[in-house]
Amino acid sequence: MRRFVHEPAPTRIVMGPGSLAMVPAEIARLGCARVLLVHTPSQGAAADRLAGLPDTQVVGRSDQVAMHVPVERAKAMVALATQLQADGCIALGGGSAIGFGKALALELGLPILAIPTTYAGSEVTDILGMTAQGAKVTRREPRLRPRTVIYDPELTLSLPAKLSATSGLNALAHAVEGLYAADVDPIAALEADAALQALATSLPQVVAAPQDLAARSEALYGAWLAGSVLGAVPMALHHKLCHVLGGSFGLPHAEVHSVILPHATAYNAPAAPAAMARIVAALGAPAAAAGLFDLAVSLGAPTRLAELGMAEHDLGRAAELATQNAYGNPAPVTPAGLRSLLDDAFHGRRPTA
Ligand code: NAD
Repeated sequence: MRRFVHEPAPTRIVMGPGSLAMVPAEIARLGCARVLLVHTPSQGAAADRLAGLPDTQVVGRSDQVAMHVPVERAKAMVALATQLQADGCIALGGGSAIGFGKALALELGLPILAIPTTYAGSEVTDILGMTAQGAKVTRREPRLRPRTVIYDPELTLSLPAKLSATSGLNALAHAVEGLYAADVDPIAALEADAALQALATSLPQVVAAPQDLAARSEALYGAWLAGSVLGAVPMALHHKLCHVLGGSFGLPHAEVHSVILPHATAYNAPAAPAAMARIVAALGAPAAAAGLFDLAVSLGAPTRLAELGMAEHDLGRAAELATQNAYGNPAPVTPAGLRSLLDDAFHGRRPTA
């Protein structure tokens, strides 16, 4: 019998090629009069275009963003917003820029208009991960959720094929974890299925032809759905492990997700057969974990922690760190189990489970 809680997210979504032009109308809707524009350094040209639109209410801008939101940098961003008397934030870029927008929402309560240019999905979650003293601390609060998201696939045309692949696999990981999450609600499960299908179809097209706007649009659509799933479910082994590897060992976010996803899936496969069946159906692959591994290989994404700069002698410590706090997961999480998972990921072994 069905038993669930479903809470629709209040974020307004505007999607379509050229929708960057909607910024003035969306800022007016939010009622902001003094906006700080936070953007990824690589999005300087898009930020110029945005700031050049009439009535965006932008009174200042900053590209001082960094992956995993280091606390000291976030404090500097809060100080800038305070000095500018900002009453709103536009976060333009990947998950890093959006993370800094969330730091402003956390400290100052500013509403965020997010304009993502990768497939990370942070724009539709209430999650903020910040790093201090070599550890990533994650919090969830309703006020962290951006109020409006503009998805303009034209802004993703510049995302290099390799980053598109890893960022897309980061999105796929949200959908995969959503399928076996505790208490996943039926809408989130449908979103996860649709995200897997959209991403599995579009990512090979994007990597083969990065200027294919239709494929880019489909990938961004999949990223929205996948991010929505992450925003609706508790995180499990895959995300916790990636946070340890990113936050404590400095490994790059999307690449870590790409490498870990098949192995976390293999780890959970025996305990989550229904989720595996849905992944198999969406990917059209004979097995879930191996299918995800093969997809990563075909996209040219990294498959070995070794190639991301992880030291083999740190694997044991990573396994210990990832088991320090209890969290829900289909398969029991043990240091020995994680050590073996990390060993497979370090060497890039194709999962056979
Ligand atoms: P990122 O934002 O750091 O961007 C990666 C690189 O891509 C950067 O060099 C950036 O300048 C460049 N880039 C971004 N968009 C581009 C484009 N369209 N064209 C060319 N270059 C572009 O990386 P990310 O993977 O998007 O985000 C990672 C961060 O987001 C991490 O800190 C992670 O913790 C966080 N994140 C948070 C959530 C959440 O729900 N809180 C979800 C996913 C990721």
